[in-house]
Amino acid sequence: MIESRLTEKSFEVDQRGYYGNYGGAFVPEMLHPNVEELQQKYLALISEESFQKQFRYLLKNYVGRPTPLYYAERLSAKYGGRIYLKREDLCHTGAHKVNNTIGQILLAQRLGKKKIVAETGAGQHGVATATVCALMNLECIVYMGEVDIQRQAPNVARMKMLGAEVRAATCGSKTLKDATNEAMRHWINNPEDTHYIIGSVVGPHPYPDMVARFQSVISEEIRQQLMEQEGRETPDYVMACVGGGSNAAGAFYHYLHTPSVKLVAVEAAGLGVDSGHSAATTALGKPGVLHGSKTILMQTEDGQVVEPYSISAGLDYPGIGPIHAHLFETGRATFLSATDDEVVEAAFELTRLEGIIPALESSHALAVLGRMNFSPEDVVVVNLSGRGDKDMGTYMKKMADS
Ligand SMILES: *Cc1c(COP(=O)(O)O)cnc(C)c1O
Repeated sequence: MIESRLTEKSFEVDQRGYYGNYGGAFVPEMLHPNVEELQQKYLALISEESFQKQFRYLLKNYVGRPTPLYYAERLSAKYGGRIYLKREDLCHTGAHKVNNTIGQILLAQRLGKKKIVAETGAGQHGVATATVCALMNLECIVYMGEVDIQRQAPNVARMKMLGAEVRAATCGSKTLKDATNEAMRHWINNPEDTHYIIGSVVGPHPYPDMVARFQSVISEEIRQQLMEQEGRETPDYVMACVGGGSNAAGAFYHYLHTPSVKLVAVEAAGLGVDSGHSAATTALGKPGVLHGSKTILMQTEDGQVVEPYSISAGLDYPGIGPIHAHLFETGRATFLSATDDEVVEAAFELTRLEGIIPALESSHALAVLGRMNFSPEDVVVVNLSGRGDKDMGTYMKKMADS
């Protein structure tokens, strides 16, 4: 079934790197050559036949794609609708992040870069980056907030075992935002030989579009798999958690211009949207510039970035990618949020109903199922962005406490 992509509003990036009012490239002068080189070359490079061949080969035989689209019968019985889980948790390294790092390492090679720098929150992007650096024999430095180094210890060990150097970010709330600042600073100081692999649809143009394209394999597969299982390519709902928004962008991508598909993005409410300890960006934020692009971010009256909080390190970020700011502003996607407590409960529930231990991040998308009021014939796809192995410390503590 071919649907018209010519709708009134476009959700694709324009020539200047904007999604409506959001996007662009706000970078210091030192980075202009790098960012401009990327802007000029990325589309041509990633559409080259040799690139696509290598990218597709690795996604299939290294990552294990296509990931299954699993009909969750007991979860569906509980919440109504026909709920499918897109199993990104089964990707090599345990989350969707590796789809993007494979694309970017192939790009870095073609740009002649010898070293890689990255930021990480939960450690999933750091692990995915360290993995492809080992694969391609490139030097890898990963910045990670000091708080996250403590709460995601298994991933720190994995990165080190893979040969990456993990450097602690010790400013601010010592989490993802601060790690991103440090990684950007490192790139500014080493622009010649280093490529920065950003882990989400954030950063200066062309990163948001480039990362969304690499992650769009998720919705490409969903379309085919729904056709096989439901006899149609389009679900009624696609739901995903949003930190920076890369797993959501990938799951939404091929449905952006199909208005019948309702897009639901779930942010981290932390201890509660109004508690002062939250990362619910669209509920609390205003337009501003963060990490090289204009977007919506949590800030004070005078524009200071507000320190975010979430139990899940991967969503503990005060902004969202510009594509999501645009989806929010235009109403194309609905933005909800879930609290830490709701998320932990949803994680335990999925584990007991389906035998799948989800990442805390992914559990945000599960935590709002009870609010959706699906009708029985609704086809719902929840993007299960990652597995819960890295969160066992948190889950063990919850079991001990209860
Ligand atoms: C990093 C991460 C996220 C959040 O990042 P997005 O760019 O918003 O997708 C979500 N889930 C998992 C499992 C992650 O590792």
